[in-house]
Amino acid sequence: MTELKIAEEKLGAMVRIPTVSKHEHEDLSQFYRFHQELERLFPLIHEKLEKTVLNGTLLYRWEGADQKKLPILFMGHQDVVPASDEGWSVPAYSGAVKDGCLYGRGTLDCKGTMYVQLQAVEELLGEGFVPPCDVYLEYSINEETGGDGAAAAMRHLRDRGIRFAFVLDEGGAVIDEAVPGMDKPYAVVGVTEKGYMDVKITARGKGGHSSTPPRNTPAARLFAFANEIERKRPFKKVLIPEVQEMLRQMAPAFSFPLRFLLGNLWLTKLLVVAAMPMVSPFGEALMATTCCFTQMKGSDAANVIPKEPYLIANLRCSVHQNCEESLNVLKKYGKKYDLEFEVLLRRDASPVSDIHSAAYCFVEKTIRAHFPDAGVAPYLIMGGTDCRHFHALTDTALRFAPIRMTNAQNSSCHAVDENVTIAALAEGVRFFKRLLKDYA
Ligand SMILES: [Zn+2]
Repeated sequence: MTELKIAEEKLGAMVRIPTVSKHEHEDLSQFYRFHQELERLFPLIHEKLEKTVLNGTLLYRWEGADQKKLPILFMGHQDVVPASDEGWSVPAYSGAVKDGCLYGRGTLDCKGTMYVQLQAVEELLGEGFVPPCDVYLEYSINEETGGDGAAAAMRHLRDRGIRFAFVLDEGGAVIDEAVPGMDKPYAVVGVTEKGYMDVKITARGKGGHSSTPPRNTPAARLFAFANEIERKRPFKKVLIPEVQEMLRQMAPAFSFPLRFLLGNLWLTKLLVVAAMPMVSPFGEALMATTCCFTQMKGSDAANVIPKEPYLIANLRCSVHQNCEESLNVLKKYGKKYDLEFEVLLRRDASPVSDIHSAAYCFVEKTIRAHFPDAGVAPYLIMGGTDCRHFHALTDTALRFAPIRMTNAQNSSCHAVDENVTIAALAEGVRFFKRLLKDYA
């Protein structure tokens, strides 16, 4: 069977089991069905690797030649976000093939990543290859809902005193046009992820009938506050070294004047910091905490002044101005409007992996060798991945799946018609084989 046919059949089979994200106490039967399917698809892994199941989360250990060498960890997740067939051009869990692409929920996020890792290990086992150090594989069941799966796996490993030379999770990929206007694909390697915070902001008042409204009603105070935050964008704008390196690496792919501006940050940094937020929301998100007002509640009737209307703000906090500090900025502005703040959900930005470490340089070198037409750049993840838990066990936690995708495919994650190019899967399998063979 050709590598394309194998990818199509195995990932297709993985996608056909709808492993929608679950918490540990919920019905995990689809996940256990999925585990059985993995046993059928990757028999050598299940014969030769040590497997631990922690409430559905999968952990494998492949014993390496040198037990004194720090292990490495490849990871991803088994769960997917729900999908109905509505809007899809094929049924959402069909694993149907169209024009060389495999369609279905999870093909990219994240069963495609799982597949390239598992298939590489399976093939290497078939070749009698022994890895230079222990290799671990980890796949949680609730990455998409921020559940405890990956954290539990991390604690399990930590309790056994295990640390990793590096960790490779999903998050970055080889993207055709990572930023509009780029003239070549870029492999982006996530080295940190922003924090996340939901804040409920309440204004209190006496309520009453809306026919004789006083000034400064609670709703108006909330709106004035939201307006001021959106206009002033009061969060600290900093180009951290890793983002500077990202811009420097990407500069050649742009035409003048961006090429010059980003390629000469030693000269243009102040200008870039000042101009980028005005040019693009993405540019701003790379440099600062962002705050978006997403939900609101007033009174229950059109003619009643609300007593305690509220807004929900969703913040993505920067490494240099983490959740606590960002919240304080909001509170400072909230004072003059007499507002109350309550944090509903909070997760700090992760530490930043060192892009000058031996492990990062090795992964980067392997990417350059495997994807010679692509640029490589570190990257700041705006969403969340399971990888954040593993900063506790390594100095180099990276988010990169060696899968080529178009911008449209990248945006199909969590959306309709999620799909992956089958040839890109085969290329990804070869990447992991190369990585393991080169890691001596
Ligand atoms: Zn994912």
